[in-house]
Amino acid sequence: MRNREVLISGGSVAGPALAFWLRRYGFTTTIVERAPAPRTGGQAIDIRGAAIDVVRWMGLLERVRAAGTAMRGMSFVDAGGRPLVSLTELTLTGGATDGPDIEVMRDELVELLYGATRDDTEYLFDDSITALRDGPDGVYVDFERGGSRRFDMVIGADGQHSRVRALAFGPEERFLRHLGMAISVFSAPNLLGLDRWQEFHLAERKVVGAYSARRNTQSRIMFGFSVEPGEVDLRDPDQQRRLIARRFAGVGWRTPEFLDAMWAAPDFYLDAMSQVRLPRWSSGRIGLVGDAAYGPSPLSGQGTSLALVGAYVLAGELASAGDGNHARGFERYQERMAGFVEANQALALSAAKRKGTRFGNWCAIQVMRAMSRLPFRRQLVALSMRPLRRAADGIELPDYWGARSGLVDQAGVVDQ
Ligand SMILES: Cc1cc2nc3c(=O)[nH]c(=O)nc-3n(C[C@H](O)[C@H](O)[C@H](O)COP(=O)(O)OP(=O)(O)OC[C@H]3O[C@@H](n4cnc5c(N)ncnc54)[C@H](O)[C@@H]3O)c2cc1C
Repeated sequence: MRNREVLISGGSVAGPALAFWLRRYGFTTTIVERAPAPRTGGQAIDIRGAAIDVVRWMGLLERVRAAGTAMRGMSFVDAGGRPLVSLTELTLTGGATDGPDIEVMRDELVELLYGATRDDTEYLFDDSITALRDGPDGVYVDFERGGSRRFDMVIGADGQHSRVRALAFGPEERFLRHLGMAISVFSAPNLLGLDRWQEFHLAERKVVGAYSARRNTQSRIMFGFSVEPGEVDLRDPDQQRRLIARRFAGVGWRTPEFLDAMWAAPDFYLDAMSQVRLPRWSSGRIGLVGDAAYGPSPLSGQGTSLALVGAYVLAGELASAGDGNHARGFERYQERMAGFVEANQALALSAAKRKGTRFGNWCAIQVMRAMSRLPFRRQLVALSMRPLRRAADGIELPDYWGARSGLVDQAGVVDQ
């Protein structure tokens, strides 16, 4: 039985990466994305360890590197804007400034992945799945904009609040582990005139910051703060903006200016940080990849890398399992990824323990000050990055069908 037509919900990182590899192996791919175009905005994200290999094998490494943020360092300032400490070895978003990782703005990576797939994957923008019926001969899918279609498989790559997961596996409360914090990111003009630099201010259980983006032509403003479960209304961006305005009222430095910029931002983003945990990432002909399956949360710094590696492994295992054997492909995908996912999710849980109290913030600044004077600070940063590196490298990636050397042509024929 042919098993070749795949619908992917979500056109951010995991979705297009999966489509890229499936196309290489001869599958037909359709991506349905809720937004009217690839979504802009978001934080600087990191590509590390095994994910760098995946990007290299996709032939995108040079372009991703060229889009890299090349951050030089960061400062923390007090409520009056006076510098408390500056470091050139480390940034808040990316870790070590001289390490092997690539930090790139999320939307620049999404643009590159879209460019690499748009010619041979059908994109359905501004639409979403409303119903899924999994049967012996395929999955019947209803779409929000009307119409029904049959696919051999459906994969949810639609993020932390996945629609596919909700339809096929159950309500998200069963799978999300709330980490007690929320993060907002949006674009603004480069208000502080930063040159590949990050600036932050810590207040009680809050952090506000700005860093330059898109080669200093813009900045990203970031608000991080503690929240209770359910406090962020995901359907109502205005409620989200009001929540931030309330929480950051009275916070010093340039915060009032940043709050004004928030109301004008075209790509405002806020979400509560959660970790996604499911016992199984597939059911019948329906599977999950990226944040939808095992989102580790922004605190891990590994969401994008997990999505890229997961897409590579899922496509490779589905292709290797052969036509009609999706069950084996899904099983091998989970077996191969489970330990890697667990190690990377664990990174976020230790970070979530930091509470950001007034005293905790004071201690953090003192530690950074002491560090900034140490002669061996680069080595110290490298040492502190070791657990992250171990987790990021913690998977052996097979060379599916000559994927590493591009031996598979678009029809899935091995060209040796
Ligand atoms: C706008 C945006 C901003 C982000 N900002 C940050 C950030 O600042 N820091 C951070 O660590 N992570 C952020 N993330 C998450 C980060 O991109 C992911 O952790 C990581 O890249 C894994 O990607 P993913 O493709 O699995 O999920 P995501 O990047 O979350 O992508 C999911 C995609 O699915 C689409 N989608 C959602 N629901 C539906 C639906 N019902 N039908 C069709 N499509 C749907 C979304 O529009 C999105 O394009 C952001 C994600 C988005 C979408």
